[in-house]
Parts: sequence; C-alpha cells; structure tokens
Amino acid sequence: MVSEPSDSVSSPPGLSGTLGDMDPEAFRAAGHEVVDLIADYLAGVERYPVLPPIEPGTLRPLFPTAPPETGEPIETILADYRRLIEPNATHWQHPGFLAYFATSASGPGILGEMLTAGLGQNPMLWRTSPIGTELEIVVVDWLRAALGLPEPFDGLLTDTASTSSLIALAAARQATGIDAAAAGLTGRDLPALRVYASSEAHSSIEKACMTLGLGRAALVRIPTDGAYAMEPARLEAAIERDRAAGQRPIAVVATIGTTSSTAIDPVERIAAIAERHGLWLHVDSAYAGAAALIPERRTAFVGWERADSIVVNPHKWFFTPLDASLLLTRRMATLRDAFSLVPEYLRTLDREAPVRDYNEYTPQLGRRFRALKLWIQLRSFGLEGLRRRIEEHIRLAREFAAWVDADPDFERLAPVPFSTVCFRFAPAVLARDAADPAHQRRLDELNARLMEAVNRTGEVFLSHTRLDERFTIRLAIGNLRTGERHVARAWELLRSEAERLAGELE
Ligand SMILES: *Cc1c(COP(=O)(O)O)cnc(C)c1O
Repeated sequence: MVSEPSDSVSSPPGLSGTLGDMDPEAFRAAGHEVVDLIADYLAGVERYPVLPPIEPGTLRPLFPTAPPETGEPIETILADYRRLIEPNATHWQHPGFLAYFATSASGPGILGEMLTAGLGQNPMLWRTSPIGTELEIVVVDWLRAALGLPEPFDGLLTDTASTSSLIALAAARQATGIDAAAAGLTGRDLPALRVYASSEAHSSIEKACMTLGLGRAALVRIPTDGAYAMEPARLEAAIERDRAAGQRPIAVVATIGTTSSTAIDPVERIAAIAERHGLWLHVDSAYAGAAALIPERRTAFVGWERADSIVVNPHKWFFTPLDASLLLTRRMATLRDAFSLVPEYLRTLDREAPVRDYNEYTPQLGRRFRALKLWIQLRSFGLEGLRRRIEEHIRLAREFAAWVDADPDFERLAPVPFSTVCFRFAPAVLARDAADPAHQRRLDELNARLMEAVNRTGEVFLSHTRLDERFTIRLAIGNLRTGERHVARAWELLRSEAERLAGELE
C-alpha cells in the first residue's frame, strides 16, 4: 500500500514539505549570504590559481549520479558551492586572466544580473515586458551614440557575437530577394551564394554559413597582408571571379580587431567594394568595438558607419557579465523579414499603435532582459569611467609590447592596435638554426612549453594562436581587475620560465 503524505508528517528540510517557492524570509537570509559569497570571491579571487590544476573527468565523480529525492537546506547547498563549485572554476574574474578576450563581470553588472533574475522578465513581446522592450530601445540607442554611430542605426541585444553575426547574415541572405525565409534554399534553381571574410575572421562567421544552409563552402576566405588585415584588392578580385563563374556574392564581413591578433580590416575600402557590388557589409568588432567609445581612437573604425550591420560585445571589453552582445543595423526591417513569424498565440489584440516585439528579429522567441544590467552598469561607470579603463588597458598592452621589443630573446609577431600582444620566445641560442626547416617546429614546441609552464604557476593564464603558421602566445588585457602589477608579473614569469627552458637547450 502506498501511503499518502499527510500534514502530520514532519516536513523534511528544505522545500520538499511545502508547495510553492522558498519561504520569503529564508530567501532574504540566503540572498544576503549569496551577496557575501560573491563579495568574498571577488575580494579574494587572487588566492586561487587562475587556471585550476584539474584533470578532465575528475569533477564529475564528486557529484551524486542522481538529484536527491527530498529537498536539502540551502545552507548545505551553499556550503557545497563553496567546496565543489567555486574552487573548480577557471577564474575569468581573476586579474591574471590574460587569455582569450576577457569577460569580466563588474560589480554593477552583477547587481544587474541579480535584479534581472528577480524580475523574471521575458521581453519577447512588448506586451510581455514593456519595460524590458523600451529599456532595450533606450540602451541600444545610448550605446549607438556612445560608439559614434549615426541615428539610422537601430538594433538589439543578443546573447553572443555568434548569434548577432548569424542574424546579420540571415538578413543579408534575405536582402538578396531569394526569400530563403519562406522558400528555403533546397529544391530550387539557385546559384551558389557566397560570403567573403578574411582568412583571420572568427569561426562564428563560418558557423553562421553552416547554420544558414549556405554551407562552409560559401565562405570565401580573403588573404591578409603582413599586418593580418584583409587585402581589399583580393576581395574585389574574388567577387568578380565568383560572379563570372555564375555564383552569387551576398555579403562581406570585415573585422575590426580579429581574434588572433586584433588586426583591423580596411573597412572604408571594403565598404566601397561592398557598395559597388551591392553586398551586405557586416562588421565584426566583438572585442575591439569598445575602443570606439573613445573619440580619439575612432581612426581604427573609419568606414564602419557605412556597414549594414555591426556587432560589438558588451560582455567583452565593456565588463558586462555574460551574456550581452549588441547588434546594430541600419536595416531593421530586413532582419524582421528574415525572422518574423507571428502565430495566433503571440498576437496581441488590445492595441492600435505599432510596438516593437523583439522576437520578430531573432531566431528564438524567449529573451533575457539584458538591457537592465547595461543600464545599471553604464550609469554606474559613466562613459568616462569605461573610457578610462579601456585606455589604461591599451597603455598596459603598449608597455608590455615595449618589454617584448626590448628583449633580444623575444619577438613580437603582430602590431598592437588595442590591448592584445602577440609574441614568442625566440632565443638567440637557437638563431644559428634559423635556416633549418626544423627551426620553426622547434620554436613552436618551445613556446607551447613556455606557455604551459607559465600557466601552471596559476598566477596568470595566457592563450595562443597561430600567425603565419607560427605558434604565437597572446597576452590579452581586458579584465576589469587587471593592473600594472599583473602585467609586470606575467612578463617576469615569462622571462624566468624562458630562461629555464633555454638552459635545458644548451
Ligand atoms: C569573441 C569574438 C567572437 C565570438 O564572440 P561570442 O560572443 O563568444 O560569440 C566573434 N568575433 C570576434 C572578432 C570575437 O573577438
């Protein structure tokens, strides 16, 4: 016989004895404790190794194979958070995080995330979140103006640059008049569609081509010059060649601040080519776009105001917590053509005036209220506060680059237009082998070992890329908490580990 639960049975701990949510007073107490946890974490993050020494597969066995049948007290869960979760994170919030492009969450941004969760908005329709919708319009326009872009640019917030670029390229596909949104691309007599980007463009562009049914084959990679920037003459030649072969060019993606080396494609010249051939121009400035907040730095961005769409990620160099990507476009109506689909249950019947229903511009329906954290953060730092922080990161990167340049055993592998330095260890003792074909391979191995050794110290975390096929160490400054001390320490560690490795070579 199955016994029914009864009120006389004493409630197990946690929530299992009740219906509905956590008790409001218990929430308040736990909420204060969580704020303390976050504050302690941020204040003491440097006591952790930025890259924790964890082997793959060793964390999973720390957790039970099934969730508990009865609820547990939140104190127990938070104690396990302290013990099992926090120490096993890669510490993106650590000032020694100099790998990839930083995503560091600012205090005001974290507070914004907390309030966002509390309010539980879903600005998919104006109706389902009037404030979520209209604050997004406000914040997008604030950012547009702050980046120095003219009013015809409108836009929206998405989760990532990958999604923003996917939406932009879907709109580019729609702008051709092929109407893939309605008729698809299969079973029709269509020419091969082509998208152009430099050989250094981000993988998200290629993934967008995969997702949109164009296929990876649709992406034409244009060679770059010695500074890893797209060669416009090669772009134009490729477009003309493909046209002559009966293919249909639809879009060009220019990057301002490539992921490997932060190279700047010549957007002004690329815009002229795109205009001449009637192609959609998308500018990917996911990381470097933040530098356009500084009017004196806009020389790197000349011509981007001619783009059809632009992506800049607040969750990179604006110190906004994941996730927040800003997609700006002069052609909102085309985005809408690409994604608008309004079933009966999403129709709102009680209004006359047209409103913005953001879901009509994106592949997904439900959306986060990302504008709230941005509104809080922009007000809290002020544009001037963001500019000063970005400027300081650029200064630190230039300083680091000068140290590399002054050291005969190191070489810099790319210009430093923003806050990322590409370099390698090339010790004088190996220079005698420079003509040997095995030389590059030896340098590659040496630099991989150097980066590993430096990362193992736990004090800093660096990443790598390949430039001209050479293993290249990247030091990317963009974490809100990184200062002179951390960059100097990274250089000290690189030099001492390099010296040790060089000793083994002799
Ligand atoms: C980081 C980056 C991306 C991808 O950003 P996500 O938000 O992670 O999708 C795309 N392009 C460039 C140039 C980037 O630096």
